[in-house]
Amino acid sequence: MLDNLTQRLAKVVKTMRGEARLTESNTAEMLREVRLALLEADVALPAVREFIAKVKEKALGEEVIGSLSPGQALVGVVQKELAALMGADLGPEASQLSFAQQPPAIILMAGLQGVGKTTTTGKLAKYLKEQKKKVLTVSADVYRPAAIAQLESVTKQVGADFFPSTASDKPVDIALAALDWAKKHYHDVLIIDTAGRLAIDEAMMQEIAAVHAAVKPIETLFVVDAMVGQDAINTAKAFNEALPLTGVILTKLDGDSRGGAALSVRHVTGKPIKFAGVSEKLDGLEAFDPARMANRVLGMGDILALVEEARKGVDMQAAADMANKIKSGGKFDMNDFKAQLTQMKKMGGMSGLLDKLPAQFQQAAAGANMDQAEKQVRRMCGIIDSMTPQERAKPELIKANRKRRIAAGAGVQVQEVNRMLTQYDQMNTMMKKLKGGGMMKMMRGMKG
Ligand code: GDP
Repeated sequence: MLDNLTQRLAKVVKTMRGEARLTESNTAEMLREVRLALLEADVALPAVREFIAKVKEKALGEEVIGSLSPGQALVGVVQKELAALMGADLGPEASQLSFAQQPPAIILMAGLQGVGKTTTTGKLAKYLKEQKKKVLTVSADVYRPAAIAQLESVTKQVGADFFPSTASDKPVDIALAALDWAKKHYHDVLIIDTAGRLAIDEAMMQEIAAVHAAVKPIETLFVVDAMVGQDAINTAKAFNEALPLTGVILTKLDGDSRGGAALSVRHVTGKPIKFAGVSEKLDGLEAFDPARMANRVLGMGDILALVEEARKGVDMQAAADMANKIKSGGKFDMNDFKAQLTQMKKMGGMSGLLDKLPAQFQQAAAGANMDQAEKQVRRMCGIIDSMTPQERAKPELIKANRKRRIAAGAGVQVQEVNRMLTQYDQMNTMMKKLKGGGMMKMMRGMKG
């Protein structure tokens, strides 16, 4: 996901961090790089302009210039503004679904054909079912009987209820009948999937606007394919003008997208991104978190997501222990680092995980050769195994002599030991950050 953008930005971030002094010219140079990277990733020009203007203003402000490590502070500003661009400024509530409606809470799904609307309806039904909601889905796509059958299939797969409709019904009648049924059967949520067309047309807009007027949904979600770049932005604009959207769902973020849609859609519509689709499977839906996304985009990795993965399958206890340890002020040492690596090895889905790791890690596995990535992880574990317990607990002890011994023990070059130590440092820095607000979130997630 977003590989090019991430690689370019990660490079800038690395240079910025290294700068002990920020001058007008090196700041301008870095901002130029960031700007180019964003434009190349298809981020809409107005969004890029506003973003750069904000970063520039802050870069020259006290917060950066007056700080001990201005380069690092500037990275912080870029991270924060990137998150704001994707909706962090709206606050955490903004990305949550509202149920503030006499039950059932109605969710209307809008978007072009092929963007993943039906799949996402199924994913959302699953997500809500997991929150103990009684969910009913209905398809108002009277043009493609196959779409109705597809919705029935995904709904059944996730164990939610499905309201049958036929191609001879009118979309508004279908929606009203489903609503009536949902009320009588005490459903908490009704999700209405609608017809998508290949391009925006007047009749389609009128039809969905009529459904909207008839059922007055609390949520009207615009589903958009992250892969289509600038086009996504034009569609988003058109839908936003025709319908009072309450949020956006970005699909196919797992694909080879350039990132433009993710970074511009909020700016163009003013509406928060609420979810991101990250696989074809019905569990491939994530609540969208702008700050975490910004970290990923900057190649700073997404440890929270990693921990969540860990929670899903592998060694929950180890993850919880580590979280506790860090929370109580403990140090993230080499043993923890190795535990993380080992977990990754166990988890199989290396490519998904790699997305969430810092860019340097991703580069280590560049070329998407997963065998090689696995090999890399094994080598890193080998290096850690060659350390003494004391070194593992206090990696700062590891100076030149020890590095040579460790390299010899693991059968690798000293450079490789250095590289691993750098990666450890980055992970450590990130872990320290988790002690703040992010930590609480992680702990909450952990209990579930
Ligand atoms: P609709 O026409 O908008 O209802 O689109 P569908 O739900 O039929 O999805 C179109 C295609 O996109 C299908 O092949 C889906 O499996 C795929 N798809 C949907 N969401 C995602 C996603 O988040 N990631 C990936 N990789 N594929 C997705």
